Parts: sequence; C-alpha cells; structure tokens
Amino acid sequence: MEVLRTENLKSYYILDIFGKKRVVKAVDDVNISIMENEIYGIAGESGCGKSTLLRALFAAIEPPQRIVGGKVLYRENGKEVDVYSLSDEERRRLRWSFISYVPQGSMSVLNPVVKIKETFKDFIESHTTGKTKEEAYEMAKEHIKELGLPIEILNAYPHQLSGGMRQRVTIALATVLSPKVIIADEPTTALDVVTQRGVVQLLKEIQSSRQNTIILVTHDMGVHANVTDRIAIMYAGKIIEEGKTEEIFENPMHPYTKYLIYSLPKFGDKGRRESAPGSPPSLADLPPGCSFHPRCPHAFDRCKKEVPPLKEYLPGHRVACWLVEEGKNAAS
Ligand code: SF4
Ligand code: MG
Repeated sequence: MEVLRTENLKSYYILDIFGKKRVVKAVDDVNISIMENEIYGIAGESGCGKSTLLRALFAAIEPPQRIVGGKVLYRENGKEVDVYSLSDEERRRLRWSFISYVPQGSMSVLNPVVKIKETFKDFIESHTTGKTKEEAYEMAKEHIKELGLPIEILNAYPHQLSGGMRQRVTIALATVLSPKVIIADEPTTALDVVTQRGVVQLLKEIQSSRQNTIILVTHDMGVHANVTDRIAIMYAGKIIEEGKTEEIFENPMHPYTKYLIYSLPKFGDKGRRESAPGSPPSLADLPPGCSFHPRCPHAFDRCKKEVPPLKEYLPGHRVACWLVEEGKNAAS
C-alpha cells in the first residue's frame, strides 16, 4: 500500500538579489510513490535538490522555499490527505506523529545546554495531548530501551556523547511517536565508516521491527546498495531514474546513474574510477533540454532541445533519457 506520493511537485526558491528575481528550481516536476514498509533511497550529487525535496515532503518549508506547483499526498488511516491544503494546525499534527525527520546534523535538534531527557520530555509533551512530564519520561525510557541504546544517555548533555551516539539519539527522538514515515537526510555524513554502519543498522532495525517506511537521502551509493529497497536518482531537481535498488545497480540505464555506480570504489581495485565529467548545472540557470546534456557523452540533437520525460521502460524501472527512448545503445 502506498503511504506517500507526490504529483508533479515543484518547489523553488524565489530570491530577490538586489532587485533582480532569481528562481532556483530545486524540485521540478517530481512524481514519486512510496510504499508502506519500504526503504526508499534518494541519491545524487550535492545541490541536486535532495534536501529540498525532503523538506517539501515533510511539509516544513520556509521562505524563500516555496511550493509552486503540484501536490504532496499522505495516506493516513486509508485516507489520502493533500498536505498543502491543510491548515498549519492540521499539518503540525501530522508532523512527527505521521511523518518525522532525521536531519543532517544532530546539533540542530539537540540543545547543547539541555540534558537529553529534557529534550525528550519537551518533545513528547509538545507533540502529544494530555501527557504529563512523568509519562513523557517513561515513554522516552521505554523507547531508548527498545532501540537497544544505553539508558544513561538520557542523563547526559549532548556534548558528553560521541557523534555516532548523538545521531542515534536524534533517530530515537524522530521515532518516539511511532511515525509511519521517517525521512532521513544524510544521517551518516559527518561520521566515520564504522559509526556510519551502526547508525544505518539502527535505521534498518527500526524499519523491520516497526514495519514503517524510511526515505533515506544520501549521496553515498554504497549505503544505498546495502540498505534501500528502491532508489531514485536525482539530477538538477528531477528524478532521472528510479527502480528496485538491485535492478538499478545491475542494469542502470541513465548515463548519469552509470557514472554514479561505476565511480564506486571496488575492493582491491586500483584502477581509476570514472566519475561524471564537469560539474552539475546551477539550478537557477538550467541548460535547455536534458539538464545532463552538457556532461553526457551520448548527447545528441534532441537532448539539447527537449526535456526527456520519466518513463517506465521495464516493470518498476523508470528512466528519463532520449537515448533509452530511442533504443540507441549507450556503450559504457
Ligand atoms: Fe544524455 Fe541525452 Fe540521455 Fe540526457 S537525454 S542523459 S543528454 S543521452
Ligand atoms: Mg542536502
């Protein structure tokens, strides 16, 4: 069953720079459908619109970010709700209880001068109705135990914990109200490899024990290969390929996806891996046609003029590329 979807979602930053209007098309016509019980990955280089998309899905956007078109739809108790047609109060109710967010850095949610337990109490109190501080504390303790984290962390200040433990606390906080959907934005970025693995493992365990949905954004293709069920590749504000993770890694069709996968270092491989030439375009000044065409070794005339639509070429495997559409063979 579907739990969340977007319909032609467009979220731009509208900036006024010395009286000149600048439009940054960070999310441009995105259609995704996310299922119950899956780990859905979103990959792509930094600056491609991943975090903007997450904020739009979480319905927590602030100016200059705006929703300029399309919809975000949540399915709650069998009913579909159009998130941006709700009142602020109704949206607030859904946030954290239906959908929650694990931000990139733990310090944006943990107050350095407040003990972890106080953060939990305040959080639970302000997002539930009729819970006393005592009950909130019990709930926090129960949850920390369930996640297998040491109970003593509740008595600590954030700086007394390691980076990895702080990130686990952030995940615990984001999941304490049992949300159906958990959005995680580069949850492992600032951590060393071993710690990364532990944090990813925790997310996986939460997903399998609670049967909820995780939307995991990371530029790290290795993490996607290990954790996600399906993956969407984003480039310049658009989804350019999407499918089962296994299938995408075995049979990538978009030239950009191929670069992302073939640039992954392999164990024992000393040869140079090939990453995409050039750099991503400015989202405020996109090239015409396929945004990837200035970097694409297979670009032909049509690519420079027409935007390729995201189309399903194999069951559950969507690609936005004229080369695929025209059945030309991309030697890679
Ligand atoms: Fe390359 Fe053209 Fe496909 Fe874009 S549409 S990825 S430029 S072949
Ligand atoms: Mg980001």
